[in-house]
Amino acid sequence: MRKTQRTLAAAALLLGAFGVSTVLAVPPPPAAQPAPPKGKGRFVGPHPLAGRANAGYCYIDVPHSHNYQPDHPNLYQQVGDGYVFTGDPVPFGYEGQKTVFYGHHPVPAPATAEPVAVANPTFCFLKGPHYHDYPQPTGPGYKVKDEVVFYVGPIPPPVAAVRPQLEQATEVEYRPFVALRPKVTVVPPPEWPGVIWVAPPAPVVVAAPAAPVVVAPAAPTVVVAPVAPPVVVAPVAPAVIVAPAPVLIRGHGKGKGWRGGPGWGHFRGKGHWKH
Ligand SMILES: [Zn+2]
Ligand SMILES: [Zn+2]
Repeated sequence: MRKTQRTLAAAALLLGAFGVSTVLAVPPPPAAQPAPPKGKGRFVGPHPLAGRANAGYCYIDVPHSHNYQPDHPNLYQQVGDGYVFTGDPVPFGYEGQKTVFYGHHPVPAPATAEPVAVANPTFCFLKGPHYHDYPQPTGPGYKVKDEVVFYVGPIPPPVAAVRPQLEQATEVEYRPFVALRPKVTVVPPPEWPGVIWVAPPAPVVVAAPAAPVVVAPAAPTVVVAPVAPPVVVAPVAPAVIVAPAPVLIRGHGKGKGWRGGPGWGHFRGKGHWKH
């Protein structure tokens, strides 16, 4: 018996322990913003930091790794086993030396990057004026007008093939940052094959008009009569009529008057049972 009690007590403790653990298993609060893709990412040169809004800019100009993948894949191109950030760094918190470019151009590999056999050069597909943290690349194919760099060299066919979709994706990425573009008023060199970029209208925050206040006419006074209490009619209890118990009178004699005896018939015959 004592053993049974101990077993029950142990079971109760166990159940209690499970109960506590259930209460403590509170799910973590939802993240404020989607986390960058998991997995180790190798970055070739500087890039926007990922992981949270306004995270800042990573200035490491040699290949290095983070424990996340690029969170703006449209602004990176893969070179070897690493990612090169091809976009304008200013909207991502970059502060430092800047050069104004206009339109598409090859992205120079970081000076300290290991040489990688790349079939085609990495290109920046930003349309119109934008900044980079590197100076005008050396070599032919560039024209500078009023300190704005234009690329007038050839575009390899494989690069031209992917240009429309990358150009569109890049444009979408930078639409919220139109106000951070460099302001340039420059006539491109005649050999430049690009198209003058017309800035899309900056997103304007329109204050929603105040909702008109409608004063409803006074509602007529409605007098609600108190609800009469429900009348509950109790079922009538069936009247119980207690019939007088028949009086059995034993006849005289020696018990023969009972039921069928002479006494029985005698009383019955005289009408004493009437009622
Ligand atoms: Zn980094
Ligand atoms: Zn560029």
